[in-house]
Amino acid sequence: MKLPSPFEEIANSSKPAQYRVYAIRAVLAMIMAALIAQINLDYLESWLYDFRIRSEVLQRTSGKIELVYIKPSTIQIFKGQPNAKDQSAILHNLLAAEPRAIVYDFPIEQAQGSEEDKSEWAQLISSHSNVFVATPDTPLKGEERSLYLPIPYDSIRMVSAPKTSDTINFAKDRVTRRMLLSYQGATMLPVTLAALYNPEVQNPENIRGHFDFYDTTQSFIDFRRPGSFPSAAFDDLANGSVDWSRYKDKIVIIGTDLNTSEADYILTPYSRIPSAMTRIEMQANMTDTLIRNSSPLRMPHYVNWILLTLISILAIQIVLSMSPAMGLVILVGTLFSFSAISFALFWLFGWWITMAAPLLAGFLVYYFFIPYRLIIENRRSWEYYQKNKLLSQVEELKTNFISMMSHDLKTPIARIQGMTDVILSDQVTLSPQQREAVDTIKQSSDDLLKFISSILNYGKIQSEGVELHMQTKDINTVLQEVIRKHEFLAKVKRIQIVSELEPLFPIRMDPDLMRQVLSNLVENAIKYSPDDTKILVTSEEKADRVVIQVSDQGPGIPEDELNNIFMKFFRSKNVKSTQIKGSGLGLYLAKYFTELHKGKIFVESKDGKGSTFTVELPMEQGGVNA
Ligand code: ADP
Repeated sequence: MKLPSPFEEIANSSKPAQYRVYAIRAVLAMIMAALIAQINLDYLESWLYDFRIRSEVLQRTSGKIELVYIKPSTIQIFKGQPNAKDQSAILHNLLAAEPRAIVYDFPIEQAQGSEEDKSEWAQLISSHSNVFVATPDTPLKGEERSLYLPIPYDSIRMVSAPKTSDTINFAKDRVTRRMLLSYQGATMLPVTLAALYNPEVQNPENIRGHFDFYDTTQSFIDFRRPGSFPSAAFDDLANGSVDWSRYKDKIVIIGTDLNTSEADYILTPYSRIPSAMTRIEMQANMTDTLIRNSSPLRMPHYVNWILLTLISILAIQIVLSMSPAMGLVILVGTLFSFSAISFALFWLFGWWITMAAPLLAGFLVYYFFIPYRLIIENRRSWEYYQKNKLLSQVEELKTNFISMMSHDLKTPIARIQGMTDVILSDQVTLSPQQREAVDTIKQSSDDLLKFISSILNYGKIQSEGVELHMQTKDINTVLQEVIRKHEFLAKVKRIQIVSELEPLFPIRMDPDLMRQVLSNLVENAIKYSPDDTKILVTSEEKADRVVIQVSDQGPGIPEDELNNIFMKFFRSKNVKSTQIKGSGLGLYLAKYFTELHKGKIFVESKDGKGSTFTVELPMEQGGVNA
């Protein structure tokens, strides 16, 4: 008995019961989703977030930002950091190139030089409203004094441009992913700079993906790969090897890349090495994100919650309804598609769907419910086992009963046959009608006896009581006996039995059982063939086997039944509607007996074109159970 899958079981139950099962599963999935939502998966989520950024192929910048680096080569050429005089000179040239803004993002007060030079530089900076000096500090409201530098730079107002990193919040891995837009209402430098091109970002409410965090407004940085912004070395500007026109209408950010201070660098989604990206490239990324107003947009909580619940429901459904292999394939396929869609949405629209929780939910729910499924399945197979046991007991009782009955019927039938023989041998007293009646009695009792011996054999097989009585014998002798015995039956239908028997060595076999096998084949050939046809019986030796074939020109066997005709009680649908009698046991017994001899029996047939039954028996002695 085949165990139905849990899915079939639900499909077979009534509609309200089905809905109840699905509702329970949905509630369970929601509970699991709620539990999983409690787990802090920030680290995993940020890793998946970084992966999405890293795998972005098509990236463009606004093209509005230029970087100028004070590099080790600059230090070499200037014999130290460029002093206030050098800085003034460069600033003059830069201003002449008409950029939109110039930003100093390093501690300008540390530059060497005479007080005069310093004042001149400070004067130049403060007299141009498009020259900014950035500070990493974000003073509290009321403490804005700290944004001013000591004399002679005291006329310069610095602008906050802090670096943010996930140090104590979110992923806690010190990677910079977010930027500060404002702190206690004070606007940060990237916003001011971006507003020079895109005035709408002046109002943080217009910034895509902005969110409040304590006293700040923030958004995520739409990072570009390191090196995406054009840059030049400070010394190139000093020796005039740059084309100044490249700075026209641009934001020029001047900073250091000296590998001396960790504060000059950030860790990025691309890399976690300490000098992954310079501070000024970070400023460029922040400003550029705002110019394009393309901060990644984190999907609202409810979207993530729906996805988490849907995947949990699906995982439960898969565990409880599908075969484990199929289930795993579908689950992995779904999670893979979900990931692919999440990545695509991020690349195309900058939509950030939470991935960690749904992915984890898929697997957690799946593995959490496997034991539950095992318990259910175990209980069911136990029930089926019990049912099966009962059924086989009933089956055994039935077979025993039939065998007993059949055995008891054998004697009276033998007596009927004896008596009919006696009557038939009397040539005188019977009228033609009486003779015909007695003939019918004899024929019917023959059929009955055949049927009974089939049933008895079947009973023996069921109780494994068939014994082999092996003898060494020529199978051709058995075949000839069988043909002779059936000649009369064939003659009635004017069927000609042609035999082509090759001389063979005697083999070990149980002649009684083989006689039954071959009789059944010849008898079927006669029984199912139309009148005036031929039956060919052949025997030959092939390799180490004796091959016997019985071919007829009968109706053949439909292709869809070829696999069934050796099954017990099977009768073709074509013959069931005819007068031809049979129990459906003949070929079952033939196969069983042949296989007891370690032989094979099979049929080749085409519907409407006759059938050929083949029996192959091993020749060597050892091949047969003696
Ligand atoms: P039955 O008592 O019905 O003959 P068998 O087990 O001997 O039972 O055969 C099973 C079925 O195989 C038959 O009912 C018949 O449909 C089909 N069959 C067997 N031999 C032939 C044959 N020579 N030609 C066509 N059909 C056959």
